[in-house]
Amino acid sequence: MKKYLIRNCELANFDTMTTSTREILVEGERISKIAEKIEAPEGCEIIDAKGMIAMPSFADCHAHLTQSVLKGPMDDYPITTWLVRLFGIEDIMSPEENYYSSLLGCLTALRCGTTVINDMAGWDILDPVIQAVHDSKIRATIGISTTDVPENEATPIISIDEALRRSEVVYNKVHNNGKMRASVAPAGLPAVSGRMAQELKKFANERGLVFHTHLGEGKMETNNVAKAYGLGGEAEALEQLGILDKNTLLAHSIWLSDHELDIIAASGANPVHCPCTNLKIADGIPKIAAMVKRGINVTIGCDGEASSSNRDMIREARLAAYLQKGWTLDPCVLDAGTVYKMMTINGMRALGYDGLGELKEGNIADFILVDMDHDIALINPDFKLNNFLYAGDGRNVDTVFLGGEILLRHGKFTFIDEEEIVAKATPVIRGLNKKIMNM
Ligand SMILES: [Zn+2]
Repeated sequence: MKKYLIRNCELANFDTMTTSTREILVEGERISKIAEKIEAPEGCEIIDAKGMIAMPSFADCHAHLTQSVLKGPMDDYPITTWLVRLFGIEDIMSPEENYYSSLLGCLTALRCGTTVINDMAGWDILDPVIQAVHDSKIRATIGISTTDVPENEATPIISIDEALRRSEVVYNKVHNNGKMRASVAPAGLPAVSGRMAQELKKFANERGLVFHTHLGEGKMETNNVAKAYGLGGEAEALEQLGILDKNTLLAHSIWLSDHELDIIAASGANPVHCPCTNLKIADGIPKIAAMVKRGINVTIGCDGEASSSNRDMIREARLAAYLQKGWTLDPCVLDAGTVYKMMTINGMRALGYDGLGELKEGNIADFILVDMDHDIALINPDFKLNNFLYAGDGRNVDTVFLGGEILLRHGKFTFIDEEEIVAKATPVIRGLNKKIMNM
């Protein structure tokens, strides 16, 4: 059993936003001890983390990994054009392009301190995504987006039986395969019938899976759903269908009435805030501060990079905080400690990862060490925790532990050659760009 003793790190406390100097003993996949001083057991490797912040790693609760190389070619289009263009590009992407796109997404996430990704993939690209997740060693919950209502001419619709068949295939291939888990992931009510949502929820409940969907992202689409159901909005419709509970993740959750916020609070469902996407493709701004006030378990996701251009949870979370402060004209809402919890324990709880999300004895050893002492823009030994969120970025992560294994050390991957990946991925991206230009 591999053992590590981390010496002299600054253990983060998100309640007080302070740190205290501690030692952490990792034995096998778990954190076995945290104390001021720990006697090094025989055969353990000692890691001097002097001055580095130690904190739980992040859960990125909404992603479309295969869009990772679409930063650039999808910029600055009106939303309807954007969606049709995205479907068009996804149609022409080869398995190799999907693989490298997903791999780069997973590795960027890891590089920036994320150890869990909740991915909404596509049926045709499932195998490259699984391979990329496997090769990157990251934890991922994977579901395939399903639709049976044509939202526009490019929406790929399937029958409910076919959606269930595909979900069964995903479940058998993915669930508990290495560090992967399966989910069900109907795209969202504008493109999904109530019956499909209910059948998939039943399928998920029978197998203990999370239900991952988009909610209230587009204003017009939300209004259409409200009209079709004769209700106030999409969350009211999901409640009526019996979908909302603590195993449901609701990406975006923008166009919701206050009554719907109360419904979500009572149900225990988990909104996933994706601020980069919400601003970049002009979705709107969700009432995150009001959700937190109601005790809703809000999480954060970087979404697909075709819309967010980001896979760094620190950048995503900072924007989340700034947005609510500016929008509510109250600098006290979404304070740093609350935002750190949204990125860690809230996300792990929403995805059902017991033993993750808090750096404490007995938990799984998924955590990060953050170096704030060697970046000239950030040096301030007394405010490292604040400054990581408000002034730093994921590149300040020095070390990533995942299940007791060191995957990143001094900012370098320990198990994969980053330069080799870049050399292989660059011509693949070039080739895809050419295909997109000729579309
Ligand atoms: Zn999405």
